[in-house]
Amino acid sequence: MKTSLGQYGRLWSTYLTPQRGTVLLLAVLLFGNIGLQLFNPQVMRQFIDLAQAGAAPDVLVRIALLFVGVALLQQVLSVFVTWMSENVGWAATNALRGDLVAHCIGLDMSFHNAHTPGEMIERIDGDVTVLSAFFSQFVIQVLGNGLLLVGVLVLLFREDWRVGLTLTAFTLIALVTLGRLRNIAVPHWAAERQANAEFFGFLEERLAGTEDIRSSAAEPYVLRAFHALMRTQMRTSLKAALMINVLLNTIKVLTAVGTAAALGISGYLFLSGHVTLGTVYLAFHYTTMLERPIDTITRQMQELQKAGAGMLRARELLGTTSRIQEATRPVPPLPDGPLAVTFEDVSFSYADGQSAADGTGQATGKETVLHDLSFSLRPGTVLGLLGRTGSGKTTLTRLLFRLYDPDAGSVRLGAAGDLVDIRQVALDDLRRHVGMVTQNIQLFHATVRDNLTFFDPTVGDARILQALEELGLTEWLDTLPDGLDTVLESGGSGLSAGEAQLLAFTRIFLKDPGLVILDEASSRLDPVTERLIERAVEKLVRNRTAIIIAHRLGTVERADEVMILQDGRVGEHGERAALASDPASHFRRLLQAGLEDVLV
Ligand code: ATP
Ligand code: MG
Repeated sequence: MKTSLGQYGRLWSTYLTPQRGTVLLLAVLLFGNIGLQLFNPQVMRQFIDLAQAGAAPDVLVRIALLFVGVALLQQVLSVFVTWMSENVGWAATNALRGDLVAHCIGLDMSFHNAHTPGEMIERIDGDVTVLSAFFSQFVIQVLGNGLLLVGVLVLLFREDWRVGLTLTAFTLIALVTLGRLRNIAVPHWAAERQANAEFFGFLEERLAGTEDIRSSAAEPYVLRAFHALMRTQMRTSLKAALMINVLLNTIKVLTAVGTAAALGISGYLFLSGHVTLGTVYLAFHYTTMLERPIDTITRQMQELQKAGAGMLRARELLGTTSRIQEATRPVPPLPDGPLAVTFEDVSFSYADGQSAADGTGQATGKETVLHDLSFSLRPGTVLGLLGRTGSGKTTLTRLLFRLYDPDAGSVRLGAAGDLVDIRQVALDDLRRHVGMVTQNIQLFHATVRDNLTFFDPTVGDARILQALEELGLTEWLDTLPDGLDTVLESGGSGLSAGEAQLLAFTRIFLKDPGLVILDEASSRLDPVTERLIERAVEKLVRNRTAIIIAHRLGTVERADEVMILQDGRVGEHGERAALASDPASHFRRLLQAGLEDVLV
């Protein structure tokens, strides 16, 4: 894919239109700034010519004051231009970052499985930061410096066409030379950055693994790898530094050549009486002014290439569509209260994430996790879901939440006798009616209150306290230093696994869904917490349909029905009491073998 000018233009207009007032003002200031830069040497020229002609001192003082005033004004304008262009750049790229984050949050789980957090940070922040330079500077710099360049050359032509021609030729040669040289230098700079990144990646990993390295006496191996990386780094840095020097020296030499040419030709014209001394000064000064635009323009052309890559990646990300599509015409909201659940011939496999990202949605060689799964639950039933690790229990619950859609068959929810395919239910309605406690509970670096309400300020403290009370957590709350205002560590460190689960239960309790899913963590808990959890589960499943993926006998005993999954198929499904007393049932054998030893 190549970036066309049109794509740059579209991105520009999307994110700059909201700021068009500021952008317009910026352009005006910029033109003013350039105008002043071009104007001041003219003042100086006049000063020289008048001084040479023996003008009165007060006239010269007035011109000198004008020169200082213009120079000051130009500096003030420069400050404003910089400030505003940074503002415009950040506002535009933050809007783009926001769009990317919103888009990615809406993408399905297979996308997120295929992209690591590090990659997402790089794509949403890193790529966009490169674009920021493009937004805030490119047009301003290229347009501004281009105008400055043209302005200088036009004014030189106005003085004398021979001077103008010489310096135009010089400018073109300088632009081409520097542009070429930079292109030669870029790969060396990229190689240096890559070597740096690799070196730090290596260091970080080895430092984190110090204990293992020592205990397995791997120091010599680590040191050898270290030396190899250092050698690469040195080689690439040397080359990169050399290229920078070549570039800087070329700029210096070019400027010297340009100045010599300007002085040579205008000096000659002065001696032959064609121009005044002021004009010689003017030509000299304007020539020194050419250096910066030439440097900036070639540099910005390179930024453009980087921005092109960043833009492509941003557009590609925005172009990724979620496989979980919102129903086009959603059915009326699900009823409140316990829900009936039906799985009808559901088959499912995790397609590999790459195909999700490129939008084809077709994966090759995927393994079916659920096979033609069918079962029904009446409203208010508590189902104990059992099965060996990897049998598809967690997967089944993910389908209920539409984290994934089944490949075949349908999942239906609703009031008894009035079930609808969940693909026809509005997503937020579905997720309001289904609550899930996952095996890995995610806690945020925020207060207990925010962790419980998911940052919803409309949930009052009274309700939170009541929920905690009902789940038997008041005593636990009292142990926290600041009560609901206690700030939890991110990732829930500082909380035991049991406490994290209890917090997750409270979340569900506050949400009050008609179907709850508990995916019990398989970690063993201390007896006190275990009792607390059992009591909380008891409360939680009351007057709700529940699917409990149980690893503990205590939780299984709470179930009305038991279903055993075997390699993604229903191995057994029935009333718990009936199965427990049926000598031929798999469940009974499980109980006899010691459920916890088999399942945990
Ligand atoms: P456990 O008791 O260990 O929690 P489980 O019954 O919940 O196991 P699942 O997590 O549903 O098992 O996994 C079923 C199968 O799907 C496994 O073979 C697993 O490797 C695979 N699987 C699970 N999650 C993913 C995923 N995100 N992407 C690809 N494959 C997955
Ligand atoms: Mg699981």
